[in-house]
Amino acid sequence: MSEILKLVEQHDKYRAGTLNLQASENVLSPDVRKAMASDLGSRYSLVLDDHDAYGGTRYTQEILEKTMEMTTRVYRAKYAEVRPTGGHIASQVVLLSLMQKKGNLMSIPEKYGGYTGYQNNYLPQMFGFQNYDIPYKPESQEIDLEKTEKVMKSSNPSLMVLGQSFFLKHYELKPLREMCDKYDCTLAYDGSHVMGLIAGGSFQQDALNYCDVLFGSTHKTFFGPQGGIILTNDEDLMNKFRKNLTWRTMDNFHPSRVAALGIAMEEMHLHGSEYAHWVVKNSKSLAKLLSEGDAKPLYDPWYSETHQIGLSSKSLEKKGLNFRKFSELLERNRIVIDREGRIGTAEVTRMGVISMEKIAGFINGALSGQDVSKEVGEYVSGLKLAYWSGAQ
Ligand SMILES: *Cc1c(COP(=O)(O)O)cnc(C)c1O
Repeated sequence: MSEILKLVEQHDKYRAGTLNLQASENVLSPDVRKAMASDLGSRYSLVLDDHDAYGGTRYTQEILEKTMEMTTRVYRAKYAEVRPTGGHIASQVVLLSLMQKKGNLMSIPEKYGGYTGYQNNYLPQMFGFQNYDIPYKPESQEIDLEKTEKVMKSSNPSLMVLGQSFFLKHYELKPLREMCDKYDCTLAYDGSHVMGLIAGGSFQQDALNYCDVLFGSTHKTFFGPQGGIILTNDEDLMNKFRKNLTWRTMDNFHPSRVAALGIAMEEMHLHGSEYAHWVVKNSKSLAKLLSEGDAKPLYDPWYSETHQIGLSSKSLEKKGLNFRKFSELLERNRIVIDREGRIGTAEVTRMGVISMEKIAGFINGALSGQDVSKEVGEYVSGLKLAYWSGAQ
């Protein structure tokens, strides 16, 4: 047997026995997995003006069209592009389409949860742009509008990108839209972390009312597979995005992935609103329960409007831990979180969890030195995937 296949099987077995609270991950339904593992996984399709450059594409084209159509419905957007192979690729397409060389960009600073890719030594350097920080108030998790206007006035950006990887609170978009109109700046929203919550209508439902474009990953709060989407109500913008797709930022769009995404869109269309409602409810309730233990969540008493909770590093220091050591401690107890102090409730919600008491108990137990790995294993084996065609 292949060495790698053995490792894959070990991985699957390992992760099937752990409780996943990683904020940037989710779990695929058997229907989505079936598409991922299908013959489509080794095929090409390239739709030119009036024909496909490849043969054997009679179903591939229909899959792509239907998936785009389903995506516009789920997001109530006029135009959708589902070919970007990741959120990062989608952001490249958007930046290339809306910026000129030597142009200026504004985004949330990394130290306040902004995406690393927008910081000056990554995408801006690669494309010849300059990034300016959006002034941000971490204590309230809000953009400082007054200071932002000052930076916008002095740096004259052609694009402002909202969105964060550490993402707890919605933005007040109307004043930002007005500011962008005043200074002739395009407004984009990188919703990578929250695409599933936006689809389900539980977070920043006004994103496309105020922003020119909404884009992001399809596998964080969205049901997967891993990939990216771009949404807009502006036909000219979508045409620009499409020009920066094939042969610029990517070639093959991975038809198996698009088919899988189409199935996930159908799942989201049917179940998204219930799912997203519970994700947010679960993160608030987990935070509340954790606040009674030693790993304190940030932003008591509102905690979060998303799937994420931020942990206080100070509260962990009191127990001799940092984010990494805390994550390692939990992993020894079969609970997986990242090593940056975030906890996410998207995947457990997809696994049907609607009460966080048990999970909070496991975390608090592990933190107080108990070995809860056996109980966590038993708990996980009793969970069942919800929000798909095979769920009751
Ligand atoms: C995760 C993330 C990305 C990158 O997405 P990938 O799908 O991993 O390429 C981009 N922007 C933000 C805000 C993210 O959180």
